[in-house]
Order: sequence, then C-alpha cells, then structure tokens
Amino acid sequence: MQDLLNKDHAFWKAKSNNVRIETGLYIDGEFHEGSEGHRLETVNPVNGKIIAELAIATKTDVNVAVASAKQAFQSGVWSRIAPRKRMDILFRFADLVEENAADLVVLESLDMGKPVTRIMTADLPEVLSTIRYFAECIDKIDGAVTNTDPSAFHYILREPLGVVAAITPWNFPMMLAMWKVIPALAAGNTVVLKPAEQSPLSCLRLAELFTEAGGPPGVFNVINGPGEVSGKALALHMDVSKICFTGSTEVGRLMMIYGGQSNLKKVSLECGGKSPQIILADVPDLDAAVDAAIAGIYANSGQICSAGSRLLIERPIHAEFVKRFTLKAKTAFVPGDPLDPATTMGPLVSHSHCQNVMGYIEKGKKEGATLLFGGDQPEEFSDGAYLKPTLFDEVTQEMTIAREEIFGPVAVIIPVKDADEAISVANDSIYGLGSSVWTRDLSKAHKMVREIEAGVVWVNCYGDGDATQPFGGYKQSGQGRDRGLDCLLSYTQTKSAWIKL
Ligand code: NAD
Repeated sequence: MQDLLNKDHAFWKAKSNNVRIETGLYIDGEFHEGSEGHRLETVNPVNGKIIAELAIATKTDVNVAVASAKQAFQSGVWSRIAPRKRMDILFRFADLVEENAADLVVLESLDMGKPVTRIMTADLPEVLSTIRYFAECIDKIDGAVTNTDPSAFHYILREPLGVVAAITPWNFPMMLAMWKVIPALAAGNTVVLKPAEQSPLSCLRLAELFTEAGGPPGVFNVINGPGEVSGKALALHMDVSKICFTGSTEVGRLMMIYGGQSNLKKVSLECGGKSPQIILADVPDLDAAVDAAIAGIYANSGQICSAGSRLLIERPIHAEFVKRFTLKAKTAFVPGDPLDPATTMGPLVSHSHCQNVMGYIEKGKKEGATLLFGGDQPEEFSDGAYLKPTLFDEVTQEMTIAREEIFGPVAVIIPVKDADEAISVANDSIYGLGSSVWTRDLSKAHKMVREIEAGVVWVNCYGDGDATQPFGGYKQSGQGRDRGLDCLLSYTQTKSAWIKL
C-alpha cells in the first residue's frame, strides 16, 4: 500500500471514474438482485451526485441471507474446520485487501467523502491489523478443565454462537464493519452484515475478497437497505444468535428491544459519545495537547464516536490554549477534494447530516456560547456537504451543544477551575466513550483514570491505540467491547461437559 501514498490527485480522479461498483446483495458467495427490485441511491457528498443505485434487501431477501449463513454454519465448512485453516483464509483475505487497496480507498472516499490520505494512513491499516490480529488469536481460544471432585471429569468448551448480524454506521464503513465481522468469523460464526445505507460500497467489495481468499459461500454475506427495513428484519430474525451494532444510542436502544421481541439474541452495542478532553494547567506540553485536541475533534470532519468534542480547560491556561488552538486549527484541517492526497478534511457524509450539524451551531449561538471561528460552509464548495472547523468558547453544561452528540466538526470549550470540577463536568453526561487527561502529575493522572466514567481514558494523548485495546462505552455509549481478546470471546459461548467417572 506504501506505493499508493505517492499517487497524485490525477491518479485518484482517474481511479474514481473507472472503479468497479457492485450494486447487488452479496449472499452465498455471489451478487444477487433484490427480490422486489427496490433501489437505494448512494450519493457522493462532495457534489450531491448519485454514484449508484443498489438493491435493497426486503424481509424476503433478509430471510435468504440468514438462511445461507445458517446453512453454512451448520454444515461446518467454517465452524468446524481446523483453526489453522480459518487462520490461513483470514491471512489471505488481509493480503487481498492490501492488493486491492486502491479500489477500496476510492470506493470509500466516493461514498462518504473521506479523504484518500486518511483512508490509506488510518482506516485501511486498522482494517488490516484487525484481520491479522484476530486471525492470530484463532488457535489461542482455549477451553478449560476445572478442578472438580475426583469422581467427575469436567471440561469447558468454547463454541461459536451461530449466525451473527452486524449492523454498522457510515463514519468508518470498512473499519467498523471489520471490528465486528472479523472476530465473529475468527470465532467460527457466520455473518450477515448490513452496512449503513449512506456508505455501502466498500463492504460489498470486502465480502467478495473474502470469497476470493477461500472463504466458503454463505460465511460472510452483505445486504443493503434502510435501517428500518433491512436492519430491522435482520435484528428481529429468529435464526440470528447475536446482533453486534455500532451506531446511535437511539437505534442501539431499538436493538435491545428487537432482541427481546424475537429470540433473546445476544446484543452488543457501540453507541454515541460526547467525550471530554481535559487539559490541566500542568500539561506537560501545551502544543502537543493542542495538536491532539484539534485532531481529536476535527479528524474525519468530527464524525467519530469518540471525538473529543468537549474541551475542559483549566482556567490558568485557557487564554493561551484558545490562542494556540485557533492558530493551528486554521491550517491543520482545511476543507478540500477528498480525492486530492493533500486534503485533510472532506465533507460530512450527506447534505442532510450537514443541516443537522448547522442546526446545532445555530442553537449554540442562540443559547449564548461564543463562536470563535467557523460555523458556516466554505464558499468554494457550495455543492458539497462541507462545514468549516468550528469552535465555541465559554460553553456551560446547560447548553445543548455541551450535552448532545453533534457528530460534526464542532468543538466546545468549557473552562474549569480545577481537576475536581473537570471530573464532575466530564461525568455529567449520559455518554461515557472516550476521554483524556493532560497532566504531568502521575498520581493525579492515575486518580483521574479511576474517576472518569468512560471506556477509554487517554493520558497525554488522544485517540491512540491498537487491536489489543478494548474499545467501547460506559453508560449510554453502549455495552460490550470491540477489539481485544474479550471481544473475540464475546462471539463464543461456553459449553460444560460433566462426566461422571
Ligand atoms: P444510526 O444509528 O442511524 O445507524 C447505524 C446503523 O443502524 C445503520 O446501518 C442503519 O441503517 C441501522 N439502523 C437504523 N435504524 C434502524 C432500525 N430501526 N433497525 C435496524 N437498523 C437500523 O447511526 P449513524 O448515523 O449511521 O452513525 C452515527 C452514530 O454512530 C453516532 O451516534 C456515533 O457516535 C455512532 N458510532 C459509535 C461508534 C462506537 O464505536 N461507539 C463508532 C462509530 C459511530
């Protein structure tokens, strides 16, 4: 993939014109048309133009996809092959993803407006490390023999669950899909994935590459369609053993209801966030904190579940922080054409989402926050769903922009008087996904790690991590974790065999 980093704007523009775009449902190792011929438009947010019209999975199609996954599971072609064989196929899959990186990059960029350089340096490397990490774990999932009464022999097996339904959002289409699909497959399950309707193209290609790598038909299926149609039918399906969901807290709530209304399937949820970045007066390096804070909120145009959207700044450094943040943010994230490798900031995923974010900016102004920069669309991209990086200062906890997830490039500064107030403001949220603390005082840092209610606390950095790091939320940011060994185990169930001797 390294050679792709040297390609220029002309290369990516040409690639965007000749990339193959699949529009069918990927079921049983092949593309199919939907049963009723309904179509879903996927739109390029750079210019509002339709990229393709895709087949929509109706309830009938969902039944076919789940039946295919169930048949593949029960036949044992995946669940009961030697772990080493499953590993080999996943490693081959990772190699094919790498070989087809240019296509995947351009599909993802067209579909959701993500800059190609960001996909090549962040999303795709994460996809590859996810596949390879879980592949490496496959033959390390052990059962146990317990220390029972000598009159019995007791062992515990770890077995896959069956058919897993993965329902994912649009902000990291490939990466978040792989965070679910790969551990599910590694543990021996079969999968039906429903990506977000705004960005379905790259996942179709991934499923095809899995088959090319030797993945048996029916093991990894992809269906598309609106959440309330295809997603709901999948989540309510009686033959689905687990839903792993990433998306909004509102829809996450529905997933638990669907589980309860159907077969009590297991449910894991990665939902929204309003993550605090706490920068204390004894910050070891203010410039590093400013750089991390800027990337923490404006990367991916702010469309990151763990975006550090609340900046809790200790009063003594508030003025200096604002000065440096304002200066650096101007050049760090500049809206541009996502196909240009120099671009650091693309549009938001859609024009309607852009309008939602603008609505929050208006609320911020009305409720009395101080708009320091941004707040509007760049004139040179008037056809696109673009928004300038935006910063509000002197925000208070009562304001809507301090409480609700905006999911756009909008940061709010809430000045705090000390670490205790920072913790109380940080925890005064229904969410608890990411968080950070910047301090040179080691004891204070460890104390705050324990006190902050969040699934991740970064100390003197933001957003760092690798495949070993469990990722997920406290409170209404979700339940269950992606990445790490616990995640792999969550796609298994234990079976106890008690043998009377
Ligand atoms: P969303 O909840 O609207 O949609 C997510 C998925 O659910 C999509 O595939 C959608 O089609 C499907 N869906 C929607 N309604 C459904 C229904 N009634 N039944 C079944 N499926 C349905 O979320 P979004 O707008 O695509 O993504 C943004 C949200 O995702 C933000 O809240 C963000 O914080 C969250 N997110 C969380 C994480 C995490 O790891 N915690 C990561 C990325 C995004």
